[in-house]
Amino acid sequence: MKIKSGDKVKITAGKDKGHTGKVLQVWPREGLVSVESRNLLIKHLRPRRQGEKGQRVEFPAPMSIANVMLVCPQCGRATRVGSQMLDGGKKARICKKCKQVID
Ligand SMILES: [Zn+2]
Repeated sequence: MKIKSGDKVKITAGKDKGHTGKVLQVWPREGLVSVESRNLLIKHLRPRRQGEKGQRVEFPAPMSIANVMLVCPQCGRATRVGSQMLDGGKKARICKKCKQVID
């Protein structure tokens, strides 16, 4: 998985195209991510008990991982992600633009 939660990403498609945001959650099996205050949907909750009101709750809807690009923390550009073996056999992500190790 090239995107992790906590990453800053740029959205390349959909209603928040061009915006950036922080990744809240990643669903690797489905290939989905949710981004903080992006791609918001409103969920309408019915009143559960008598006397209670229904509510509208905004939440960031999952979107396809293909529609986000990682923003490199080193050079600040939206980039593709490569990987590289570090000494000790650990895999690191690298920015394809500036070639720097991301983490
Ligand atoms: Zn970079």
